[in-house]
Amino acid sequence: MEKKVLLEVDSLKKYFHLGKNEILKAVDNVSFKIHQGETFGLVGESGCGKSTIGRTIIGLYDRTEGSALYDGKDIHSMKEKEKFAFHRQMQMIFQDPYASLNPRSTVAEIIMEPMEVHGLYKDKKERMGRVYQLLEDVGLNRDHANRYPHEFSGGQRQRIGIARALALDPEFIIADEPISALDVSVQAQVVNLLKRLQKEKGLTYLFIAHDLSMVKAISDRIGVMYLGNMVELTTSNQLYKKPLHPYTQALLSAIPIPDPDIEDQRERIILQGELPSPINPPSGCVFRTRCPHAMPACSEIKPEWQEIDENHFVACHLYNEKIVSDGNYAETAATK
Ligand code: SF4
Repeated sequence: MEKKVLLEVDSLKKYFHLGKNEILKAVDNVSFKIHQGETFGLVGESGCGKSTIGRTIIGLYDRTEGSALYDGKDIHSMKEKEKFAFHRQMQMIFQDPYASLNPRSTVAEIIMEPMEVHGLYKDKKERMGRVYQLLEDVGLNRDHANRYPHEFSGGQRQRIGIARALALDPEFIIADEPISALDVSVQAQVVNLLKRLQKEKGLTYLFIAHDLSMVKAISDRIGVMYLGNMVELTTSNQLYKKPLHPYTQALLSAIPIPDPDIEDQRERIILQGELPSPINPPSGCVFRTRCPHAMPACSEIKPEWQEIDENHFVACHLYNEKIVSDGNYAETAATK
């Protein structure tokens, strides 16, 4: 039986008006669902809109169009009281734990603050008991409670950020590049911690990162973003076995394979050109200025979001028989 849909994002747009006639289309018509207990990874280069999606879903930004439903309720139409209750259910972990932790507060104060705001637990003693429990849950100990953020390493600070996010016992966590600022040696530890906590507490994650190999390690399904658009979405196994979108293929080809024989024979797809500006995105397919398979139709027609195999969606004309059979593809440089 399919699990309950906890978050449903439908045709979400988030535009920023920068000035006269300048609109930054950070998120442009993105749709996906996240089921209870699942980890959904969002991946793409910086500036592709993945963090803006997270911030719009949790209500830090208002939406421009479209909707994000949490447990069936429209997040952006919630009244204050509903929003307050919703924030107990959905919490966020940030990229830079140092910036998100108040340097003048002790670890105990940092973790306790959301409990106080939401009036949880009878008194300070009970809250302190909860702080100790959370510190243990994230692999720290009670001796850390009275120290300050600067006394910890980057990995430990991220653990404090996770403990704070768990303080209200949420069911959904948005992890926005939670490991990008950490040393490679510590990244896997934090990913393993998030996986363990998910199992123990039945959490649902939206995991945002630019590193596809890390996203694969934690996600059940992955959505690939490029310039505000989602270009491919499927299970993480299927994405690795059979990536369909040329952008996904390029991202995957950049991940080293531990077997030197396979690694030697592998062809790297190097994307040409810079990421275009989301203020003035290319017409038609937004990826066409860097796509090795671009054909004439790509600059004129925006590719449709199609389900190619079960639960495998892509937005690319290469999978549109009509466009390919019209002779478009034969003219591309990639086929010569
Ligand atoms: Fe490349 Fe065209 Fe597909 Fe876009 S629609 S990814 S430009 S082939």
